Amino acid sequence: MRKESRMAGKAGIIMKKIAAIVLSCMMCISLAACGSSDKRRTGTEAEVRSGDTAENSVTDDSAADTAGVKDGSSFDLEAGTVMLNSGYEMPILGIGMFRLSQSEAENSVYWALRDGYRLIDTAKIYGNEEGVGKGIKRAIDEGLVKREEIFVTTKMWTDDYDDGTEAIEASLRKLNLDYIDLMILHHSQPENDVDAYKAMEKAVKEGKLKSIGLSNYYEPDDFDRLVKATEITPALLQNETHPYHQSMKMKEHLKQYGTVMESWFPLGGRGNTQRLFEDETISEIAKAHGKTSAQIILRWHLQAGNIAIPGSSNEDHIQENYEIFDFELTNEEMERMTALDKNERFASY
Ligand code: NAD
Repeated sequence: MRKESRMAGKAGIIMKKIAAIVLSCMMCISLAACGSSDKRRTGTEAEVRSGDTAENSVTDDSAADTAGVKDGSSFDLEAGTVMLNSGYEMPILGIGMFRLSQSEAENSVYWALRDGYRLIDTAKIYGNEEGVGKGIKRAIDEGLVKREEIFVTTKMWTDDYDDGTEAIEASLRKLNLDYIDLMILHHSQPENDVDAYKAMEKAVKEGKLKSIGLSNYYEPDDFDRLVKATEITPALLQNETHPYHQSMKMKEHLKQYGTVMESWFPLGGRGNTQRLFEDETISEIAKAHGKTSAQIILRWHLQAGNIAIPGSSNEDHIQENYEIFDFELTNEEMERMTALDKNERFASY
């Protein structure tokens, strides 16, 4: 990460934070609107399956002002980072831990950190937070990285929403960390996700979490429901996003909050990668650059303003997926990739 951009960013952040505090105080006094008044959506996890079909219905600019950042796609492709609305810098390419065993997670995290990755994505429900913690410790003990140079994300599972504080403590214990860089709620769950989010807000104040966000909120109204009922604007939304499901409507909606999109299933996910890898357009672009289809898709994510966290336990794939900072897709190639969008999700949740 470049020092000067980091320093300039920090000065800006302090100003933004002051502005945010003043603005949120004004909002509370004048509108008495710090609590939730939006009880419109009462669906379950299954109902979120419909994807990005809801109309963009938000006109409330106050949250955007509070966030202090209007453009959520301000990626620094040279440094490989993005400044979050929380004031923390986040790497835009990382490694995902879904379906990895404890030992696979440990080795994959270690290899990734050795290869230059600085972002790791896991979750309580993956059952490998201990392995992730061991991989991080191994890399730190060997002097490959320092704790402050890496960015660890985990997710709170829906069963834990009624006792978010204990869930946060459990993740800290399993990861063997003093703080978590980003914790996100794994799924929308209107009956108690606000309570869970408030537990994360409390942990931010206590220094246990640096940034907080959401995952699997596919309807703008549902995202706004949680935003209106809570104080800290989500720094990030992690949704299924890949060339066949580009999440355009949700990304457009997030801009007003300075919230960035992170892609899960960036390569299509297990069982679907070949469809994307063999896509004619992607294969042609790969051939033109002397890169693999996986590398083209990942580079597209970054240039499109999506943080990408490809999952792998294969040492060669982990290395391959990080070798995407030495080439660039042209505008014409980006347009061809955009044209692949089918609004087609591969997962059913
Ligand atoms: P993915 O799109 O990253 O694809 C993973 C598959 O691609 C694996 O089978 C892997 O072996 C293969 N692969 C990876 N690199 C390759 C390469 N260079 N060449 C050929 N094959 C390659 O899917 P994923 O891992 O499920 O998703 C990424 C991450 O997103 C997960 O690991 C997890 O951290 C996160 N995730 C979050 C949610 C959520 O609900 N929030 C859901 C699923 C995944």
